[in-house]
Amino acid sequence: MIKTEKILHLKSSRGRKVRVVREHYLRERVPCYSAACQADCVNDGKLLPGDLTHYVVPDAGVLVDFLEILEFRELQGIVFTQTACQALHSKGRRYYNRLRNLVKDPRHDCVLFHNEFQRYSYRPREKGESLEKWQTRCVYWAAVWYYNHLAGLMNVVMITQDRAAVDRFSSLSSGVFVVSVQDYLQNFWPELQAAHELLGSISQALQEKEGEDSEREFAEHLPAEVLEAGIKSGRYITGTLNVSKHRAQSEAAVTTDGLSGKNKDLSSGVLVFGSRNRNRAVHGDAVAVELLPKTEWRGTDTALTDGPGDDKSSEDGETKPVPTGRVVGILQRNWRDYVVTFPNRDGTPSQTRNSQRILAVPWDRRIPKIRISTQQADALQDHRVVVRIDSWESTSLYPNGHSVRVLGRAGELETEVQTILTENCIHVPPFSDAQLREMPVNSPEKPWKVEAAEAARRRDLRETHLVFSIDPLGCEDVDDTLSVRSVAGGKLLELGVHIADVTHFVAEGTLTDLEARTRATTYYLADRRYDMLPAVLSADLCSLLGGVDRYAMSVMWQLDAETLAVREVWFGRTLVRSSYQLHYELAQALLDGEAAAVPEIAELGREEKDAKMAQLTGALELLTHLARHLRAQRDRGGALELEGVEVRAQLDEDRNITALVPRQPLEVHETVAECMIYANHWVARKIQETFPSQALLRRHPPARQELFSQLVDTARAGGFTVETRTNKDLADSLDRAVDPEDPLVNRLLRMMATQAMSQALYFSTGAQAQDQYYHYGLALDRYTHFTSPIRRYADIVVHRLLTAAIAVEKGAGPDKALPSNKEVEEMAHHINKKNRAAQRAQNLSMGLFQCLYFKERDPETDQRCLADAVIYSIRDNGVLVFVPEYGLKGAVYVKNKEGQVVAAAPDGSCEWQSGTVRRHPDHISTTSAGGSATFRLFDHITVRISVRSTHSHGDCLNLEVVSDRPHRGAGPREPRPQGRGQLVQEVVRLAEEAQEKAAQLPKLSKEEREFRQSRTPNLYSLLEEVREEALMDPDWVSQVCATTA
Ligand SMILES: [Zn+2]
Repeated sequence: MIKTEKILHLKSSRGRKVRVVREHYLRERVPCYSAACQADCVNDGKLLPGDLTHYVVPDAGVLVDFLEILEFRELQGIVFTQTACQALHSKGRRYYNRLRNLVKDPRHDCVLFHNEFQRYSYRPREKGESLEKWQTRCVYWAAVWYYNHLAGLMNVVMITQDRAAVDRFSSLSSGVFVVSVQDYLQNFWPELQAAHELLGSISQALQEKEGEDSEREFAEHLPAEVLEAGIKSGRYITGTLNVSKHRAQSEAAVTTDGLSGKNKDLSSGVLVFGSRNRNRAVHGDAVAVELLPKTEWRGTDTALTDGPGDDKSSEDGETKPVPTGRVVGILQRNWRDYVVTFPNRDGTPSQTRNSQRILAVPWDRRIPKIRISTQQADALQDHRVVVRIDSWESTSLYPNGHSVRVLGRAGELETEVQTILTENCIHVPPFSDAQLREMPVNSPEKPWKVEAAEAARRRDLRETHLVFSIDPLGCEDVDDTLSVRSVAGGKLLELGVHIADVTHFVAEGTLTDLEARTRATTYYLADRRYDMLPAVLSADLCSLLGGVDRYAMSVMWQLDAETLAVREVWFGRTLVRSSYQLHYELAQALLDGEAAAVPEIAELGREEKDAKMAQLTGALELLTHLARHLRAQRDRGGALELEGVEVRAQLDEDRNITALVPRQPLEVHETVAECMIYANHWVARKIQETFPSQALLRRHPPARQELFSQLVDTARAGGFTVETRTNKDLADSLDRAVDPEDPLVNRLLRMMATQAMSQALYFSTGAQAQDQYYHYGLALDRYTHFTSPIRRYADIVVHRLLTAAIAVEKGAGPDKALPSNKEVEEMAHHINKKNRAAQRAQNLSMGLFQCLYFKERDPETDQRCLADAVIYSIRDNGVLVFVPEYGLKGAVYVKNKEGQVVAAAPDGSCEWQSGTVRRHPDHISTTSAGGSATFRLFDHITVRISVRSTHSHGDCLNLEVVSDRPHRGAGPREPRPQGRGQLVQEVVRLAEEAQEKAAQLPKLSKEEREFRQSRTPNLYSLLEEVREEALMDPDWVSQVCATTA
């Protein structure tokens, strides 16, 4: 090792220049991380393949400005030099972290080379040499070192935007080419259109940046050390900026994290009013705010407004003043990819002198307009484009950005679906070849078989147990099966839940595992889904299909036949062969004693068939008996049964919406769900007891009492008392709140209760006190997810924990080190985040399909645009309604912007007249010359549904009252016949167990697959939707708190 000196010129925080001399050690051997290495480097970890045509070495300038291009997975053989990385680090931690993740991620073909520690590649900086020139020179010599180190077997391309460097170095040594980024892409990646476009857009943005105006529009952000001191002293408050969806221009709240204890007033956040005070913070950024003097505090505006989620507000008018502040600094930018449209230019020159600059309008109303430079502004009118923000200087009213890619024409289904995915940071590319190469093969030529050695390690249930599955008709990915039998001469019952052994096929750290972890879940949209695992696993080798041998992970209980008390629980890996792949309707028919054909035994002779049938029916009956008992047990503990909305669009071959098949709730759904809940609960106990500080569990915190206030008030208006003190009180009082005349009343109250609930969350047992483990909705002290490893990554983590727990029990240590509490908690956080994104995307896609459905119809003439609606909330200028037929909610105005009010004629028909409106706790009434109208809570009215289109944002539905009577006078008691060609809705029972039920559902039948049509959306997520859209919301600030809590 050679010691030398390295001289650094640093800038102190006050701007003073400091010269630092560092000892610098040079080594002969620094790993090259190349499979083509000729020198026996100690290359641990990721390697660059040896069979590429070249390696590419970007210089510091390229890395700083064009990192995004280097992020394309198609680019191979990238060597990042230490020199370039340090340059990137000085640009900001965010960029540096992105690079680190890139290098860590095995799906990206790139490595980091410590060129400044390599004796033969390091070049000290010369006197008078600029930093940039020196960096470029360093990178060049690193490139030369690679060429020589690999003995000239691999060409090396250095890319730089420094023309002088190209001239100077390009002919200096053979085998090392020096080219610009443009030339590189053109010569080596001519097909990679997306990269070329991105390059153009970034280059343009860089050019424009040079000619910025210098007048200041915003206050400067405070330097980091001032912020830090101010945060410590309590002068500044930190939190996440949440921009109001409804008043995006003016209102935002900073939700404080962990500060509520110190300062009770701030528990519902700090209001940031107006763009000056927001000071360039963008929705989602972590910021520091300073409170304004109390005299400048203000309330938030809460009347019904146009735009999405009209129904967001509680007390109309302005609320009382709340703590109000201004942003003084940004702690962390949380910028993502944004979908925008370009403004309509109507042939006029654009807003700025430079005709290439436009203000793009983000799809998400909470995001400010983004200034981008483009030559395609006209060509891309009416298109949706993905952009990224680069910077937001204090001299600019808007942030600067550049376009990344074009999604397509606005309004087209594919564009809109891609918009939804992008806006929710859902990245679901097809599985790569490298991932698929990890998969086991199962083809007619080479069928997959159970390995003898593997079989020997497992408990073989194939001959001893009647194993069967119950799923939706046509389901291909069966991840759970059941068995039940009487043992010990009838004294004991043995219940078994056998789950697909996904972790047998997906080893930790493999590419497939990483991809599954990144996705965290399978994504279900209204018309399609994106799997978490490749199909060979999800629909084949992991799927516990009938009649084939499969690996499973099982939980088996020995229960007292009389009392059903648990005597013994066994966890372990098994080998199963499912005898029956039943669907719900068939299983229910068997239970109900109806004549039903079971395909698996259809060919058998009479006698054998009868015997098999009796055995199967007996098992189903036993299972039902058990599940009823388990359910009753949880009911006594206070398990909740909630209500949600389910809509399912069915498409024809041309993918037009034609109909919905109503799904009747069957008891057998609950039976299966109950068994799954039981398995999840027992696995949670097992892993928590074995790993008290690093098990992944799922908790459901009790709702905050104040969120129930509207439910309580609404119920009271209907003459019911709803108790919310405990889950048991709530469950019991909801059961009693039944209007025999109108079943919708109970359904609405349950929906409101659902919405007041907190979200269930994954967590690490080491990160919470044990009394926080409780699952409120299920009334269980511990809970986790174990039963759907094909669709949820949490279950994969839990399977690995269970495997380790079994190993510990047997006296062996776990195979490898388990993730620490911190790592499990980070994983939980990631999965929670992805689940929320999945739910939002699903809800948005359901809304998209509803709009597509109504867009096709003329609201003036088409009877299907008229529907019955029930009022569940009263506002200053209107009411909020629920339309059961289509499962949608929305605002209905009784007073419009022109000041006219709704007047009802004697026959109930409504029209706009000038008049006045008066609001009461449980009703709202209008008076006008043409008559008056009164709308009460729980009244049924008739609404007309139409679509309101906007250029930049998605479409939304508009509800308008046409009569203050129930639709068609039929009243709510006789639901309309659900014919073909009609979008039908169905309301189903809900709670977290519904999620279990739903876990059975999201599976495609063969024909659905062909049309990329998925099954019913996950019910639990629809429960979440109810919350998202906030039928009732006390105060949006506290709402924001609740959802981010
Ligand atoms: Zn080497």
